[in-house]
Amino acid sequence: MNYPQRTLNCSQPRVVHLGQDHTLNAWVHRLRDHGNITFLTLRDRYGLMQAVIDDQSPQEVRLLTGELKMEYCVAVTGPIRRRPEGMVNPQMPTGEVELHVQQLVILSRCQNLPFVIDEENRSTEATRLQYRYLDLRSSGMQRRLILRDRVVRSVRSFLADEGFLEIETPTLIKSTPEGARDFLVPSRLQPGSFYALPQSPQIYKQLLMVGGLDRYYQIARCYRDEDPRGDRQPEFTQIDLEMSFVRRDDVLDLTERMMQRVFRDGLNVELELPFPRLSYHEAIDRYGTDKPDIRFGLPLLDLTATINQTAFQAFRDVVAAGGCVKALVLKKAGEQVTRKRIAEWEEVARKAGAKGLAWMRVQNHQFEGGVGKFFQESAAAMIRDLGLEEGDVLLMGADSWARVCRSMGMVRLEAAKSLELIEAGKFRFLWVVDFPLFEWNEESGQWEPAHHMFSMPKAEYIDTLEQNPGDVKGELYDLVCNGLELASGSIRIHDPDLQQRVFNIVGYPLERARERFGFLLDAFRYGPPPHGGIAPGLDRLVMIMSQQETIREVIAFPKNTQMASPMDGSPAPVDEAQLRELGIRFL
Ligand code: ASP
Repeated sequence: MNYPQRTLNCSQPRVVHLGQDHTLNAWVHRLRDHGNITFLTLRDRYGLMQAVIDDQSPQEVRLLTGELKMEYCVAVTGPIRRRPEGMVNPQMPTGEVELHVQQLVILSRCQNLPFVIDEENRSTEATRLQYRYLDLRSSGMQRRLILRDRVVRSVRSFLADEGFLEIETPTLIKSTPEGARDFLVPSRLQPGSFYALPQSPQIYKQLLMVGGLDRYYQIARCYRDEDPRGDRQPEFTQIDLEMSFVRRDDVLDLTERMMQRVFRDGLNVELELPFPRLSYHEAIDRYGTDKPDIRFGLPLLDLTATINQTAFQAFRDVVAAGGCVKALVLKKAGEQVTRKRIAEWEEVARKAGAKGLAWMRVQNHQFEGGVGKFFQESAAAMIRDLGLEEGDVLLMGADSWARVCRSMGMVRLEAAKSLELIEAGKFRFLWVVDFPLFEWNEESGQWEPAHHMFSMPKAEYIDTLEQNPGDVKGELYDLVCNGLELASGSIRIHDPDLQQRVFNIVGYPLERARERFGFLLDAFRYGPPPHGGIAPGLDRLVMIMSQQETIREVIAFPKNTQMASPMDGSPAPVDEAQLRELGIRFL
C-alpha cells in the first residue's frame, strides 16, 4: 500500500511548524462533525493532535470524512495552522495548533468497538483482556508500559555501571524447586522425559558464580504453576541477580541504590537511603506481618505485662497460659470508631484465627465502651503509661504470640484503610531480615525451606542445624514496599556438605538429592565462591510505581485470574497428532 508516511508524530506539532505541510499517521480518537466543519482528534503513542476538515478542504477529503469512525487508522496531510482565538486548548501540548487536512487516506477501518478506548471504567476486565490489543491503545496502558520500559532500561544501565553482566539462562531445564509446582514440557526425542520451565533461574545463577562470572543479572521470566489466588500470574518477570564474594549488606546496599536509581529515572522521585531494617521477629511483633506497610504508624503495642494489673480475667487467663496481649491505639478516633466498624474489624480478626477483638475508648479520663468496665481500676496508670488522650480508641487481642500478632496485624491494616491513614503516592521501603530458614508444614508433616533450599543458615546455627530446625535463622532478606513483598534473596550455601545437610532436613536425603541436584553438588566440589543474590519482581515494582492494584495492569498480555487468556484462548487442547508424536495419551 502506498500512502503518505508521517513527518511528525501526534505530540510534535507546535507553532514552529506553522505554515509547513505535514503528515500524521494515527487513529481517530474523537470525531466531532459540525456540518461544514469536522474536528478530528488524532492519537498515536506519543500524543493527541487536532485535525480539521472544513469547506477549504478538497471535495474528495470532505466526502471521505463522512465515512470516518472512531479508531479508523488514517494518514492526513496539510498545513499546520494556529488555532483560532478561543479555540486554544492549554490541556493539550499540541493545543495551540491544528492540521488543516488537504489529503486524507483511510489506512484501515475499524468495526464497532467493544469499548471506548480511553474511557475510565471502559469495560469488564474480561472484555479488556479479550481485546487486549485495543485496551493497549488506552493512555493508561501505554503510560504503564512506557514506565515499565523506562524501569528496565534504568535497571540495565545501573547494573552495567556496577559491573554486572546480562546473561541468559535456559528455560527448558531440570526442575528447580522454589516452592511451587513446575510447568512441564514433554520431550519428543526422549518419550517419558520432561523439561521443566524455570520457577526462577536460581540454580543456574549460582552455577554462573561457580563459573567465575562474578556479577550476573537477567530480566528473567519465571513460571510457577500455582493455584489462582491473590495477584498471581503463571509467568512473571524478575530482575534476577547474583554476586560473588559478598556479604548480606553488600546485596542490600546494591539493591537500595538500584531502587533509588529506578525511582529517580522512572518517576522523578528521590528515595532516601538506607531503607530501615527489621528482623523477621521484630516485623511480626510490631506489625503482625513479615511485609509491614509502614506508610502509617499504628504499631502493635504489647500489653502482656500490663494485663495482670487489670480485672480482665479473659485476657489474664490467656497470659497465664503463656499467651500475649497486643493492642492498637487509634489516636483521637473516638467519633469514627462506630459499632459497625468494630464489628467489621472483629470479623477480620476472626478470619485471621482470633477468638474476638476487645475495644474501649478514653472518655473523661476513664475507659468507656466495650470491655472498658474491666479496666476501671487500672485506667489512670494505663492512660499515663501509654500516653493516651481523650478520644483515643484501644483495640486489643489476646492469644499465642504468633496468632495475636497475625490477627492484630490484619486489624491494623483494615483500620488504617477504613480510617484513611494511608497517604496515596508515598513509597515506603524496608528490609525484613533474619527469617527462619525452615517452616513446618502441618499437612505434609515436614520441614520446608522458608525461602528456598539454597540459602545459608546464619553462622551461629550451622553446628546445630538438625537439633531444632524451627529455631534456625537464615541469611535471608526481603525487600518490602507499601506492604508488598518486592524482592527476596539470600546469601547461598556454597559448601556441598552443608547443602546436603539442608537437603536432608527438607526431605532430600542423599540419593534423592543426587538425582535432582547432583550437578549442583558436583559443581560445589570445584572451588565455588561464596555468593548471594536477590530477585526483585519487575511486575510488582512497576505496579507499585504506577499505583495499580494488580500486576495485570502492567503486563501487556497477562492471563486472567483463572490463569487463562481470554484473547488467544490458552490453555487449549492440542491436536491428537501432536500428542501422538509426544507419546502422550490421556487415561
Ligand atoms: N530465586 C529466588 C526467588 O525467585 C530469589 C533469590 O533468592 O535470588 O524468589
